[in-house]
Amino acid sequence: MIRHALKFSVVGLFLFGQVQAQSLLIENVTLIDGTGAPPVKGASILIEGDRFAAVSKGPISVPSGTERVDGTGKFLIPGIIDSHIHVPGGRTGPGNRTLVIRPEVGIPVMEGFLYSGVTTVYDSGNNAPYITLMRADERSGRIRSPRIYTTVSLIAPPEGHGCCAGGTVVYDYEDGIKKLDAIFAMKPDLLKFTRERRGMGPTGRNMPLIAPDLMNKLVAYAHENGIRTTVHVSEVELARESLEAGADAFAHTIYLDAANEGFAQEAIDKGVIFSSTMTRIEADTTFLDEPLFVAVIPKDVRDEIKESDRFNGSLYTGWLSSLRPAIMKNILFLHESGATIAMGTDRSMGPMSHQEMEILVESGIPTLAAIRMGTLNAAAYIGVEEDLGSIEPGKLADMVLLTADPVADIHNTTMIDSVYKGGERIDRSTLDVPANKS
Ligand SMILES: [Zn+2]
Repeated sequence: MIRHALKFSVVGLFLFGQVQAQSLLIENVTLIDGTGAPPVKGASILIEGDRFAAVSKGPISVPSGTERVDGTGKFLIPGIIDSHIHVPGGRTGPGNRTLVIRPEVGIPVMEGFLYSGVTTVYDSGNNAPYITLMRADERSGRIRSPRIYTTVSLIAPPEGHGCCAGGTVVYDYEDGIKKLDAIFAMKPDLLKFTRERRGMGPTGRNMPLIAPDLMNKLVAYAHENGIRTTVHVSEVELARESLEAGADAFAHTIYLDAANEGFAQEAIDKGVIFSSTMTRIEADTTFLDEPLFVAVIPKDVRDEIKESDRFNGSLYTGWLSSLRPAIMKNILFLHESGATIAMGTDRSMGPMSHQEMEILVESGIPTLAAIRMGTLNAAAYIGVEEDLGSIEPGKLADMVLLTADPVADIHNTTMIDSVYKGGERIDRSTLDVPANKS
């Protein structure tokens, strides 16, 4: 009862704070705007209401009554965007096959994302009623959460990858159109298909695929309805088929074989964006003991991950370790070829975004480019780059103030001073994370 009352008052304060938003100036800060442009020292950023009103290389005059934040010695980046998660609380049990509606599971995780400086997420497949509820609650301000975008329900072939964890199975064109219409009624922000024949794991099995002709028609139907498409792929040949079908984005990078020049060029020509999902092939657990992970993820959850199949020295761990160098080479190759990479984790925990950017840098990608992947490119992946992803006048004022330079060391994105969403400072001390419970 007490806990409920406390929660209610916190939400109340938060809503009240949003109404109060006037103008805010962050001054004398080092600005890393998310576009990949070099950092600007001594910058001023003016926020009016929920948007950036002015960005200047030096001091600026501001309306009287403007709240001032001294950014001396600090670094400002856009709010981080994870282009591949699955909001917990919609699916459970073996293979996530049991569909549930448990906001009480999802809300603390979403608060953990905010605590970690992640202000926008894209949900790449979930239980439709659950994720649409969470999205609506975020948009109305009822819950404290990053902005949520979602595919609502992904499209899969019968018995194919993703079919049975909230996915929508399509049998033929007529059936597909009917089911797409039902999903479109729930307003997906981007529609996901799967195109996976081996299954992600050491014991690859033969899985059915949506026939290329059907895939082409369904992607075209989504486009006719103004909805961009993304495809789960893990190998070049199936990614190529997806490009032919007109897909706009890939839910992963290429895991299972080498991305070649012809493929990279085709992806560039078609303007397709890859979600990086490198933490999905992480085979080490030491990062789970780093301060931000300890602050955000409960100890029992971290222990469970350490003991999971992914990390416990099983066949799966060996498989991940053996693939990892090739996958890192692929992502660097795609980046250096000019393809667009968006940071995405497929791990559904706020601190993972930082780990993902670290792996991108470890792969050889420069830090400024990795920050762009975690901000502007991820916004472009979702299709919201007009409003989000960089610190530029007119965009929504989502930003993270850091106490250390993330360009000098990407790990410094975890050195968070404060997080702002829509110009409002998130009170991190009241978020439902382990750091606030000790
Ligand atoms: Zn996923």
